[in-house]
Amino acid sequence: MTAWKCQKCGYTLEAAAPPEECPSCKKKCEFVNNTCYTPDCSQEGIDKRIK
Ligand SMILES: [Zn+2]
Repeated sequence: MTAWKCQKCGYTLEAAAPPEECPSCKKKCEFVNNTCYTPDCSQEGIDKRIK
């Protein structure tokens, strides 16, 4: 799974691909992939350095 974060509201979700519409904004938002690929955040699975 890939973690995605809405650039507008910060909503995060895990899915194979980002949704068309942000469930929080109810708009077409830009989602960034903030999946953690390093051991430092392996517990959460989300890279907090990516905002
Ligand atoms: Zn949003």
